[in-house]
Amino acid sequence: MTATTTVAVFTRDLRVRDNPMLAAAARGADEVVPLFVRDDRITGSEFAEGRRKFLNESLTDLDIALRDLGGRLVVRDGDPVREVYRVAHEVRADRVHIAGDVSAFARAREKALRDALPCEFVVHDDVHTVVPPGAITPSGSDHFSVFSPYHRRWADATWRAEAPKPARITLPRIRVGAVLSSKGNGFPGGETAARKRVTSWLRSSAESYADDHDALAADRTSRLSPYLHLGCLSALEVARRGATSPEFVRQLAWRDFHHQVLAARPAAAHDDYRPRGDRWLDDEHALSAWRAGETGIPIVDAGMRQLLAEGWMHNRARLIVGSFLTKTLYVDWRAGAAHFFRHLLDGDVANNCMNWQWVAGTGTDTRPNRVLNPLRQADRFDPDGEYVRRYVPELSDVDTRYVHRPWEKPVRGYPPPIVDLAEARSRFLAARG
Ligand code: FAD
Repeated sequence: MTATTTVAVFTRDLRVRDNPMLAAAARGADEVVPLFVRDDRITGSEFAEGRRKFLNESLTDLDIALRDLGGRLVVRDGDPVREVYRVAHEVRADRVHIAGDVSAFARAREKALRDALPCEFVVHDDVHTVVPPGAITPSGSDHFSVFSPYHRRWADATWRAEAPKPARITLPRIRVGAVLSSKGNGFPGGETAARKRVTSWLRSSAESYADDHDALAADRTSRLSPYLHLGCLSALEVARRGATSPEFVRQLAWRDFHHQVLAARPAAAHDDYRPRGDRWLDDEHALSAWRAGETGIPIVDAGMRQLLAEGWMHNRARLIVGSFLTKTLYVDWRAGAAHFFRHLLDGDVANNCMNWQWVAGTGTDTRPNRVLNPLRQADRFDPDGEYVRRYVPELSDVDTRYVHRPWEKPVRGYPPPIVDLAEARSRFLAARG
């Protein structure tokens, strides 16, 4: 009998534990090629350096985990369809496995692979989310467009069993290729770092999550999003382990919710999910000030500077800066999403675009015209100004009374507000009719 050979194509599921794609590729196979294709369209220079570092560290860590199992991570550069085809052809693969994904880009890649490959091709839809997109639907529609009913069904759904980590990986004779090494992130990439983080965070902070997840200065949310984005951790495993904090598990349901919206409406990555007739302002000056964290509204500038410095931003700050761009400055959400996508380590088509649409009121928010007042948000979620002082050094010595309103006692080196908040609010509400 000839040996069975499979190819396990890793995409953003960079882990060996609870990875149904890898488990299936290893099951019953004599030889397995764990393969990652570095595609310039995803890893190229339009992304901030931190994103590429995080990916490289995650790949290095995956390679180490696979070596422990007797294998290696095989790396190729170029077009994924061509490179997967080449490897499958070279090792005479019987089957190629990949995780199913929701973006139009991933869908097209999947279809091209299905058309090109000479062997069996298996797509696993249960790798990235807790509940696979499309597994639960309301009657008469292919997806939920409102979160609360989705969440109820999600919580009641039967979650799959965890996939076993392969006992052994045996590589056929093949050139391995180089994983690019890079170090130096505030967020170390990879499954090992992710597992340490989830264990320590669940122990120290999960219990207080419901009370303090909006406190900007305390910054006690899990910071698991970059790991969940690249699949260094299984969302299913995190949801099970986090069960003592329902509010935290609810956030993972939001993640699944956005995935199932995008799976059903891939165009929502660029088109309004619910068009509101917006005629966004083409204001390059305001957009540049927003990007640089120079708007003169301290809480907005702190969030934007955190993004540039760390490749990450607290969720409450994302809501504030997103509302400020789309509703106060009335600039198109797509410009905001593109900037976030370039810099965020967790930048993710489903979560980024659907959250931006939610904030802009063109998505699934049931109150699409609400405008967050950044000053009220600042008073509530950064009452001592600690978050602002951390990221806006010009304001580090300013008295708490003025830290969110420095124009009341002008500070040298910090700009005046680029917009009048009350006027902007009226302009937006008038535009929305
Ligand atoms: P925690 O509060 O600890 O939550 C745990 C996990 O739940 C997160 O890691 C994340 O995977 C998920 N989660 C939490 N909130 C949301 C949410 N609103 N939508 C979807 N999933 C959620 N998240 C991304 O992962 N990638 C993005 O590109 C992204 N872009 C965003 C853009 C805007 C304008 C807004 C308002 C939110 C965006 N989010 C995005 C959602 C959220 O801000 C981050 O997931 C969260 O801040 C990550 O921090 P954490 O891991 O500490 O979250």
